[in-house]
Amino acid sequence: MKFKLSDYGYPLEIWNLYRFLQKSNGYTREQLVDYQNKKLNAIIEHAYSHVPYYRELFEKNQLKPPDIQTVEDLVKIPVLAKETVRERFDDLIADNAIRYKPYLNRTSGSTGTPLKFMQDKNVSIARFAFFWHIWRSAGYRPYLKWAQIDGMFEPDDDSIWRYDLQMNSLQISAYSLNEQNCKKILKKISTFRPKIVRGFPSALYVLAQASENLNFDIQFKPKSVITYSEQLYPFQRELINKVFGCPVYNIYSMWEAVCLIAECASGSQHQYMEFSVMELLDKNNSPVQKGESGEITATSFYNYAMPFIRYKTGDLATLAEDSCSCGRAHVIVKDMDGRKDDSIITPEGNRISRLSRVFRNTDGYNYAQVRQVSEKEIVVLLVPNDKFQENTTDQLKQELQKRLGTSLKIEFRLVDDIEPLPNGKRRLVVNDWIRTDEE
Ligand SMILES: [Zn+2]
Repeated sequence: MKFKLSDYGYPLEIWNLYRFLQKSNGYTREQLVDYQNKKLNAIIEHAYSHVPYYRELFEKNQLKPPDIQTVEDLVKIPVLAKETVRERFDDLIADNAIRYKPYLNRTSGSTGTPLKFMQDKNVSIARFAFFWHIWRSAGYRPYLKWAQIDGMFEPDDDSIWRYDLQMNSLQISAYSLNEQNCKKILKKISTFRPKIVRGFPSALYVLAQASENLNFDIQFKPKSVITYSEQLYPFQRELINKVFGCPVYNIYSMWEAVCLIAECASGSQHQYMEFSVMELLDKNNSPVQKGESGEITATSFYNYAMPFIRYKTGDLATLAEDSCSCGRAHVIVKDMDGRKDDSIITPEGNRISRLSRVFRNTDGYNYAQVRQVSEKEIVVLLVPNDKFQENTTDQLKQELQKRLGTSLKIEFRLVDDIEPLPNGKRRLVVNDWIRTDEE
C-alpha cells in the first residue's frame, strides 16, 4: 500500500472516518452488524440506480434493493468474478461516477495481465483512515520515519533504495536481495533508524537471515514491523521478531480494496467489519462450514465509481470460532490459507490449494516452493538451513501426500534462493503446468 499525495486531498473526511474508527473500537458485534447493514443498503441502492451491470443483474434475478436488507441477504446476489470485471468493465462504472472523483487502478500483476478497475475518492479516504488506524495500533504516528522493503520500488539502475522526502521513508527494493546488497541495506537502515519497518515477509526474512549470517547487529529497535502482500509464516515471524526486537503485525488487503484483515496487539487477525462484508465461499459459491477454508468474497462499502459486490478475491481463509481478548467484536480470522490459484492439480483432477499447512511446523529450511511441472510431477524447492536433516524431505513428502495423494511424483531440490516473481513477491505454490494468468 502506498499513499499518493492526492490522497491528502480530503483531510476532513479522513479525520472523520479515523475518529469514527476510534469509536467503533468499542462497538458490540450487534452494533457492527447494524453499521454494516446501513452501509450495505446505501451501496446496493446506488448500484441498482446507477450501475448498468447491477441493474441488469438485479432484474435478471428478480431482485430490488429492498430485497437486500441485511448482510444475510447478500447470498441472493450472484458473485462477481475477476473475468466479469474484465468483460463488463464499462457496464460496471456508475453513470454518475464523476461525482466521486474516479481514477483507474490495477492489481500489480505477477505472471500475466493486471486487472484494471475504477476506484474513487471514498476508497482513498477509507484506505488512508483505516491504515492510519491500524498502523497507529502498531505504533505509527504521522511523519514518523519508516522503511519499506517490497516490490514498489523498481530501480532502473543498480540502486537498491531511495529516500522519499514526502513520506519520510526509505523505500528499499525487494528484487535483488543477495548477501552483498543485504549487507548494504542493513548498514543503511542502521543509520536511518526507522521507527516502523514495513515489507513483504519474504524480503524481511531474507534481511533478518543476512543479519544473523553476517553477525550484523542492526543497533536500533523499531516500534514494530508491519508485513503484507504474502503469507507470513511462523518461522519468518520468529526470526524477524528476533532480529528487529519488536512485534510483527501482519495485514491482509488488496488493490481492489474489498477486504481488510489486520493483526491486533493480542495477535488475532481482525476482519474490519467497518470496511466491508466478508464471506467465505466454497467452489460452488456456498458459504463454507465452520472451521473450513473458503474463498474470501467481499462487498466494499466505499467504491461508488465501480461497486464490487460479492467480489471473489482468489484468496483463502479460515475463520476462528472465538472472539479476540482485546475486546473488539470483529470477526476473527484463524488462518490465511494462500491463494486459490496457487494450486496443484492431481492426475485425478483434484485441485488442491491449501498447502501452507504442510510447511507450518517443520524446521530444516528457510523457504519452500512447490511447483507443478507436468501433469504427474511436482518439484519442491527448499532453501535448507542448519537444522536440515535427511528426514526433513521425508516428513514433507508424507505431509504433501496426505493432501495430494500418492499418484504425483514428488522431487525435492535444495537451492540457495528462490527467485521472486516480477512483482517482487515470493509464492509458496506455483503451477508451471497450468499457468495462472492473474494476480
Ligand atoms: Zn484483537
